[in-house]
Amino acid sequence: MNKKLLGLGLAFGAGIGAGLLINKCCQKTEYPMYVEGTEKDINSSKIEIIRAKKLKKKKEDPKDYQFGKTYTDHMLEIDYDEETKFSVPRIVPFHNFSMHPATSVLHYGITAFEGMKAYKDKDENIRFFRPMKNMNRFLESGRRLALPDFDPEELLKCIEMLVWLERDWIPNIKGYSCYLRPVILGTDPFIGIKPSHKFKICVFMCPVGPYYSGGFTGIQLHAQKKYLRAWEGGTGGNKLGGNYAPTLLPIKIGVKMDCKSVLFLDHENKITEAGAMNCMILWINEDNEKELITPSLDDNTILPGITRESILTLAREWGECKVTEGSVTMEQLIKAFNEKRLLEMFGCGTAAIISPITSLIYKDKTYKLSDKKDVGKFGIKLFNTILDIQHGYIEHEWSHKIEEKDF
Ligand SMILES: *Cc1c(COP(=O)(O)O)cnc(C)c1O
Repeated sequence: MNKKLLGLGLAFGAGIGAGLLINKCCQKTEYPMYVEGTEKDINSSKIEIIRAKKLKKKKEDPKDYQFGKTYTDHMLEIDYDEETKFSVPRIVPFHNFSMHPATSVLHYGITAFEGMKAYKDKDENIRFFRPMKNMNRFLESGRRLALPDFDPEELLKCIEMLVWLERDWIPNIKGYSCYLRPVILGTDPFIGIKPSHKFKICVFMCPVGPYYSGGFTGIQLHAQKKYLRAWEGGTGGNKLGGNYAPTLLPIKIGVKMDCKSVLFLDHENKITEAGAMNCMILWINEDNEKELITPSLDDNTILPGITRESILTLAREWGECKVTEGSVTMEQLIKAFNEKRLLEMFGCGTAAIISPITSLIYKDKTYKLSDKKDVGKFGIKLFNTILDIQHGYIEHEWSHKIEEKDF
């Protein structure tokens, strides 16, 4: 046994699991693909922390962090096996996986993910934004993949420990954060199509700068219904990896037409989502009411975005307009545009909070909703309010401060 492995014994909270980990680590790879366990469920109190020997160099100016280009020093891993159940959660140095070629995730897309952020406030507290919403959505995604349940609250506790360990990576500047990517993978090394008996949960993170470094600008979308993203009874309402690969071809076609992404429609020409964001429209409706409208979650075609839900709640509180979860067809949207009733349109999600849609291409015609720089006031107000809540400038129950850890 080499020194590195002996070092494992010194890991934080070493318990029964630590012994197992050491045994496993004596195999060829430093961090084995699966670690067998004995825990009934995720157990954050047994977490193992194995620190990286050498930390990566951080950029002097956090502006230079491009989304998804830099990853922090550590990641969280939890394994599950139908027979031995959950491994102890492990925070280990960021590393690659080595997989059996038959591993189910590689063939059948048995995978789901989450996207959330850790923010620093002016007092250096670390905050999450409505994190249990992410955890519960993650659990639902796993269920849709026929994977066994896990305790979402315990998972959040483990993620808090990872973020605490990596806190120096979170820039202390409003608009900056660390993006967290929880992912669940079916890890059965078996080529048959059946529910995976093994899975891995992994969480890693990357520092990110503001989405709009050059100021708010609108995007152009290609509205089309040749390629649907989701349909009634499908999985559009779950954050499954399998939902995204088929969107890349229509997005590529859109990009060729100078669009940023696609406005996905359903088979009845109803608006569903703006790329990988929920879609919101502020208009004067046919009854001459000012209304914020977004597609409803009823038939599982729409991803239940946390930003979406937060916007609906804020807009209802503000009472400046009617707030509706309902359908809008392309015909209704274009009619409103022609009658100058379309006030604002934007995508919303964790990455950008608000992404104004200022132009649409639909059936070879371009509809200029507004100038690229002429971003709607309502969208800006939502953006600023949510950002202020996320960074603790507005105290709000949605902002979850993580407690200091003693390591
Ligand atoms: C993640 C995602 C969203 C936004 O969800 P948030 O919780 O607000 O980040 C919207 N649409 C799709 C398709 C998504 O994958």
